[in-house]
Amino acid sequence: MNPIPPGRPLISDEDIEAVDRVLRGHWLTTGPNVHEFEAAFADVVRARFAVAMSSATAALHAAMAVLDLKPGDEVIVPTLTFVASANCIVYTGAIPVFADVNNDTLLLDPNDVERKITPRTRAIIAVDYAGQPCRYDELARIAQHHGLALVADASHSLGGSFKQRPVGTLADLNVFSFHPIKPITTGEGGMVVTQSGAWTDRLRRFRNHGIDSDHREREEKGTWHYDMVELGYNYRITDMQCALGLSQLRNMSTWTRRRQWIAGYYDAGFGDLEMLRLPYIHEDVTHAHHLYPVRLRLDSLKATREVIYHELRNQGIGVNVHYRPVHLHRFYRDRFKTKLGTLPIAEQAYEELLSLPIFPAMSDDDVTRVIDIVRSVLTNGTR
Ligand SMILES: *Cc1c(COP(=O)(O)O)cnc(C)c1O
Repeated sequence: MNPIPPGRPLISDEDIEAVDRVLRGHWLTTGPNVHEFEAAFADVVRARFAVAMSSATAALHAAMAVLDLKPGDEVIVPTLTFVASANCIVYTGAIPVFADVNNDTLLLDPNDVERKITPRTRAIIAVDYAGQPCRYDELARIAQHHGLALVADASHSLGGSFKQRPVGTLADLNVFSFHPIKPITTGEGGMVVTQSGAWTDRLRRFRNHGIDSDHREREEKGTWHYDMVELGYNYRITDMQCALGLSQLRNMSTWTRRRQWIAGYYDAGFGDLEMLRLPYIHEDVTHAHHLYPVRLRLDSLKATREVIYHELRNQGIGVNVHYRPVHLHRFYRDRFKTKLGTLPIAEQAYEELLSLPIFPAMSDDDVTRVIDIVRSVLTNGTR
């Protein structure tokens, strides 16, 4: 039987035709599809503005840049995330301050955020781990009280919502990823969504070397004049990618429902296993289920997580671990003197975590096979 990968994109004939049409046209980059994708995306998440970038990492960098952080400024970020959530802070010369997560949801703990605030804190980055929106009402209250910007790394949570408000409108700047395993894909790509027109102008400029107009705008106005007004980067996304994104976006709600169905099936299939701790979901959110991370109760298992991971991989189940806490990576230990033992909940969770395959292209049979094999590997490994 074919192995089931940890994640895989769904590419339709319509997607391929959309990219094909761009390739036969004249604007391979910064063409009409960029603007159209941005407008459609803003519409879907019910936000005012969206700025597409070459990746979510670029989008996070741009989000940090428009906050005008100074060296020595601090930004609070959860440690249980992909490294890019914290790297964007370092790009600007600011200092990442790692906060712990809540033990049930593994989302940024607002209480720990409050403990980590100092006079130098400028912003909070919340990460919608696994696709569950963070506690944005509490985080917004804290941010407002201390005059901080609230940024959402929503790389996992497109399609989710918090108290009926869609992800994309929950923070001041909201960042999405279109990497192939994320909710929708453009190959590589990202988006910043905001309600601020001023920030939107800055984000567009930052994506294009800090230049005040793009090539297409100059072409249309019939002028060669431009001014570089601040230091920017080439973080542009191509027209082919945006055509793909537009086409993918049409499937978003169907795919979110499919992910939710798979998660519900896993919940039911594993509900009686005492050696597993299943994802905890707040009642007031819609979870986008980018990941299905379970936690092993290691004291009720004979085998270690390492052994279980390899056994499941050998049996064709594409399990993974999300994430090694960022403060434990060598770069952060060397540069920022971060230490083991300082963020106990994320550190403990990391020892126990295992993400099961979840993606809309999974068949019902795939889902049942994951349940059967995980059950048999875990029961055989039980004390
Ligand atoms: C995937 C991911 C990113 C980076 O996305 P890219 O588009 O690959 O740059 C950032 N943060 C989180 C939480 C992610 O999962």
